[in-house]
Amino acid sequence: NKKVVLRHYVTGFPKESDFEVVTGETVSLKVPEGSGAVLVKNLYLSCDPYMRGRMTKHEDPSYVFDFTLGSAIVGYGVVRVVHSGKPNIAEGDLFWGMTGWEEYTLIENPESLFKIKYNDLPLSYYTGLLGMPGFTADVGFHEICSPQKGEYVFVSAASGAVGQLVGQFAKLMGCYVVGSAGSDEKVELLKNKLGFEEAFNYKKETDLKAALKRYFPEGIDIYFENVGGAMLDAVLANMRMNGRIAACGMISQYNLEKPEGVHNLFYLTTKRIRMQGFLVSDHYHKYPEFEDRVAQYVREGKIFYLEDIAEGLESAPAALIGLFSGRNVGKQLVAVSRE
Ligand code: NDP
Repeated sequence: NKKVVLRHYVTGFPKESDFEVVTGETVSLKVPEGSGAVLVKNLYLSCDPYMRGRMTKHEDPSYVFDFTLGSAIVGYGVVRVVHSGKPNIAEGDLFWGMTGWEEYTLIENPESLFKIKYNDLPLSYYTGLLGMPGFTADVGFHEICSPQKGEYVFVSAASGAVGQLVGQFAKLMGCYVVGSAGSDEKVELLKNKLGFEEAFNYKKETDLKAALKRYFPEGIDIYFENVGGAMLDAVLANMRMNGRIAACGMISQYNLEKPEGVHNLFYLTTKRIRMQGFLVSDHYHKYPEFEDRVAQYVREGKIFYLEDIAEGLESAPAALIGLFSGRNVGKQLVAVSRE
């Protein structure tokens, strides 16, 4: 059972050498009698920024658990049941949810898995568009941002797993949407494939505040925050009265030993801005409605989803750490097995 393990806890930017792909012990393809567990084959694994938090040893409990050194790291994935100890789960059933970065995983609490409803769409979509990141975009935009038709929306990390959907949801609502991303290739995709009105390469801008002023001469109503740091400061200075900021994530801070300060927070007061954080995991009870609605959007050609698929467990460490340098173009995932 080949698996990806973390060799030691990480400080600063993670490196490929922090991980190792090892051939583990042979696994029994049967679940222990009476355990109520399921044995699954891992098909696709999802690379997600929050996994950075698991690579560090925390003294105080974090919102996610630290990885266990030497064991397969864990994350979201798409799995097929090989053997089931549960009467309501059959061999061959497909699920998405928490699994191990390895070929086969024994899942002791299969109640935590989501049954995959649609097989007319690519299964890999259940790591992104129809999985945790897609649902994050939906909850974050529709519920946290309280959008109105015609509003000015800015999305950072806009070509990524979450951002590309936020922009498309905003377009479907009739908003004006601008995204930032870290390469000219991504900027082209945002404008020409994903339907953003405008996009810019933040790495080429010396003055982010001035760049945002250029794209939003009348200011920003909604900011979907994925990166934090200097971008947040620049956005705060460009927000309109009664604007809303969904604090989804702040990837620019995850590898810093000392987070950067934010200087412009007083604009929250003077411009009556509502800035709200959220965690997608608090909203999963609403997932079934999302799955139906968004699957239908895809079938109708209303939503397009960019994926970046790395092949095989050997390529998984590089794919995962690539999130922190922007190597991924679209949703980063790893194909472990296609059958
Ligand atoms: P992405 O697919 O967008 O991948 C991460 C991207 O972040 C990279 O491709 C890179 O794109 C950008 N990035 C990396 N480092 C920096 C940096 N220093 N400054 C600016 N941009 C950077 O990831 P996701 O769409 O999966 O996640 C987006 C955000 O949403 C993250 O902050 C994540 O933690 C958060 N999140 C929050 C959830 C919640 O429940 N609140 C759930 C899921 C995700 P580029 O080339 O543009 O720099």
